[in-house]
Amino acid sequence: MAASRPLMHAAQRTSTTHPSFAELGLPPVLVQALAKAGVEKPFPIQRATLPDALAGRDVLGRGRTGSGKTYAFVLPMLARLAQHPAKRRPNRPRALILAPTRELATQIEAAITPLAKPLGLRTLTVFGGVGAHPQISGLRAGVDIVVACPGRLADHVQTGHANLDSIEITVLDEADHMADLGFLPVVRRLLDKTPGNGQRLLFSATLDAGVDVLVKRFLTNPVTHSVDSVKSPVTAMSHHVLHVAGDSRVPVLVDLASAPGRTLVFTRTKHGAKILARKLTSAGVPAVELHGNLSQNARTRNLTAFSDGSTNTLVATDIAARGIHVDDIALVIHADPPVEHKAYLHRSGRTARAGAEGTVVTLMTDAQVTDVRDLARRAGIKPTVTRLSSGHPLLAEIAPGDRELVYPTSAVNSASVVRSRTGVRRQGQGQGSRRRKPSEGARRPGGVTATGASSAAAFSSSSRPNQRRRSR
Ligand code: AMP
Repeated sequence: MAASRPLMHAAQRTSTTHPSFAELGLPPVLVQALAKAGVEKPFPIQRATLPDALAGRDVLGRGRTGSGKTYAFVLPMLARLAQHPAKRRPNRPRALILAPTRELATQIEAAITPLAKPLGLRTLTVFGGVGAHPQISGLRAGVDIVVACPGRLADHVQTGHANLDSIEITVLDEADHMADLGFLPVVRRLLDKTPGNGQRLLFSATLDAGVDVLVKRFLTNPVTHSVDSVKSPVTAMSHHVLHVAGDSRVPVLVDLASAPGRTLVFTRTKHGAKILARKLTSAGVPAVELHGNLSQNARTRNLTAFSDGSTNTLVATDIAARGIHVDDIALVIHADPPVEHKAYLHRSGRTARAGAEGTVVTLMTDAQVTDVRDLARRAGIKPTVTRLSSGHPLLAEIAPGDRELVYPTSAVNSASVVRSRTGVRRQGQGQGSRRRKPSEGARRPGGVTATGASSAAAFSSSSRPNQRRRSR
């Protein structure tokens, strides 16, 4: 392969058990760019994989979601490309990152772009659901790194707009998720087009479902780093199963999601996600949806609204269960319990990311008791099971802080009432933004707040007895 000289081997340079990025062998310009992004100290998966990846070895990384695996492959890739500068050639990228979903590809690009720029490296993201022409022009202009979902990249390869014969480094991110989505045949075809002596880094939470076959076929003498098993993040979370009557499901969700902090709610179907997002919104909890029936623009818009805090509740199908990087998700709710325990672990992995604590709630109806019990056993968790309806004090413990419901001003007229445990205020009197950190929320007393807004159906405050009643 082109870049065969190790940059610097950690063992030769480090004297501590917690080496810095510089001690691990990253060039100063990259260390500075990382510091600008607030990334100062390597996470364990980065400490484990960087020396080998920088030395040009194939790596099999088994880090859990949220462990920092993106930088674990992005950093050595950038360092090695920068160490051996090469002229950009039309349609022939030098490095390839394959990701299962558009969201993940976008987020990898967001991590990589500010770091690539100071090194003079150009990146391009390639995925379906958006116009092909900007991608074709980008490829033609020449890029160093392509971050791609397999399907659209295969189209570009077939039409001759992308040629993979100059790829020096390939990354497969979330290989198990790619397998679950049926991408392995196309991934194999793409990898077959990359030079056999290139470096390959494969990240996967598990090695089943055909990922082991990929490893055997495409990785040469790989070094394996299992920083955490797929189960470890869930042990750092608190798990609750809330046994609810069918008609309590939405009120309980409203109670939990109207607390401060970000809430990610999972449903089994796309239709279910859409309906639930509407129900929550009309009940005073503005919610956006994320699922495969939405256009790419709508998906991006909704995910952005959730990430930037303009909407604190996202209702998603499993498409969002892996790979999305939204910090500070205080609460993950399985509004429909997933069938697969792996889906439970991956969905739940959206909270407690990067060492933060998180809470996971599964709603369970009478008909789901046996399934949820099996699910918990297979996922290796021991949840607290509580039979309740909205207004139950446990809900304020799970999701602490003032509840805030957003009323449509037009329907409620100017008399939108703000209620909280500490009294009744008029709309606009001292009520801050809904975007509060979970930790801030935890310090607040329980209570209900309602503010005016221009969206959603109206309901009068007297029609929400449970919400008014709730307090700790
Ligand atoms: P990932 O597992 O790659 O999705 O990373 C999870 C989160 O941790 C992301 O928000 C990263 O920006 C953040 N992160 C990764 N590595 C570090 C680091 N060394 N220091 C601080 N934050 C990090």
